[in-house]
Amino acid sequence: MKVELSEGRFSRFELIEWWDQQRLARARVLVAGAGALGNEVLKNLALLGVGQVVVVDMDVVETSNLSRSPLFRPRDAGRAKVDAVAEGARAIYPDLRVHPLRANVVHDLGLGLFRWADVVIGALDNREARLAINRACYRVGRPWIDGAIEVLSGVARLFEPPEGPCYECTMSEQDWRLLERRRSCSLLNRQLEEIGKVPTTPTTASIIAAIQCQEAVKLLHGQPTLSGAGFVFDGLTHQSYVTRYQRNPDCMSHDPLERLEQVPRSTADVSARQALEWARAALGPGAVLEFGRELLQGLDCPGCGREERLFRPLSQVTEADGVCGACGVRRAPRLFHGLSGDEDFLDLSLAELGLPPWDVVVGRAGERVMGFELSGDRSRVLGALDKEGV
Ligand SMILES: [Zn+2]
Ligand SMILES: [Zn+2]
Repeated sequence: MKVELSEGRFSRFELIEWWDQQRLARARVLVAGAGALGNEVLKNLALLGVGQVVVVDMDVVETSNLSRSPLFRPRDAGRAKVDAVAEGARAIYPDLRVHPLRANVVHDLGLGLFRWADVVIGALDNREARLAINRACYRVGRPWIDGAIEVLSGVARLFEPPEGPCYECTMSEQDWRLLERRRSCSLLNRQLEEIGKVPTTPTTASIIAAIQCQEAVKLLHGQPTLSGAGFVFDGLTHQSYVTRYQRNPDCMSHDPLERLEQVPRSTADVSARQALEWARAALGPGAVLEFGRELLQGLDCPGCGREERLFRPLSQVTEADGVCGACGVRRAPRLFHGLSGDEDFLDLSLAELGLPPWDVVVGRAGERVMGFELSGDRSRVLGALDKEGV
C-alpha cells in the first residue's frame, strides 16, 4: 500500500541511496516510555516521517520533566505524558499517526500489541520494565531497541529474536540484585516506585535516543545494525565503543511462540474456562494455561491471618489496598501466572483475572505450546490507528 507523503518534505532523505520513505511511512513502532528518552524518540520518529506510533506510559508531566523533554510545554504539567508527547510529535509532523496509550508497561500491555509492531523502542528507566518488554518481544519475535541513560553516559542496544542474545542474557548479578530490590521493596503499586531514580540530562538523552532511532531506520531498511550489540557512550570523555553480547543458553526469555491462532474475541468476554477449552481442543485434555505475567488473586494478612480474594491488574493495586483493614498490617499478595483447571474461579473472564486487552493466552501440554490472541480487543487498544486500517 502506498502512503500519501507531503511533497518535498523528505527529499533530503531520499538522496540516501537505500532510503525508502514509503517503508518508514508504513512502519509500526511501539515506544515504551514517554520520559526524557521517549520525548527524544518521538521527536525523531516525527522528523523521520515514521508512519504509525503507539506510545505507552502511565505517568503525568511534572515540572522537573520540562528540562529534559523537548515535546513537553509548561502548560502540560499534570497532563498524561503520552498525550503531551503525541501532541508535540504531531506539531512537528502533522501526518504522524500516533496513538497515546496511558498504561503500565509491565502489567497492562497485551502481546497482541507487540505483534502489531515492526519494532519496539524501549525508553525506560528501570530493569523490571525492560525485562517485561524483552520477554514479550522474544515471545512474539519482534526486535527491540533499548536505551538507558545515567548522568552523562548511556547505552543503546538492539535485541533481535529468535537467535540473538536478549536483554536478560546481558543482565549481571548486580542487575538482578537491583531488580529484586525494586520488586521486593514494594510488591504492590510498583508504578509509584521511586527508588533508584537516576540523574539524567537532555543532552545524553538526545544522543542515546538518536542512536536508537537510527537503528530503527536501518533495521526497517535491512541495513547493518547493532543487532546483539550495544553502543556505549561515556559522556565525560565522549569516548564510545560497541560491545557484543553473548547469548545465554539457559536464559528464561528465549521462549518463542511458534503456533498462534487469532480469536476475534475480547479478554472481557472470554472466561478462563473457555480459554482452557481452546487449549485442550488444540493440545489435548492435559493442557494448562500460561499467562506469561503475574496476576493477583488475593491479599493475605500475616498479622491477623485474614485472606481476601482480589483479582485486579497489579498496576491498579495501590499501597493503601495492601494494608489490612482489620489490623493495619501490610498484606502479602498471592500471585498466579497460569491455570491448571482445578481453580474455583474459572468462570471469571480473562479481563476480570487481570489480563490486559489484546493479550495472548498460551496453552501448554508438555513441550507443545500454542497461543490464542484475543484480537477482538485490537481496535480498543489501537484507537484511531486501527480505524485507518493500515
Ligand atoms: Zn536471553
Ligand atoms: Zn490483618
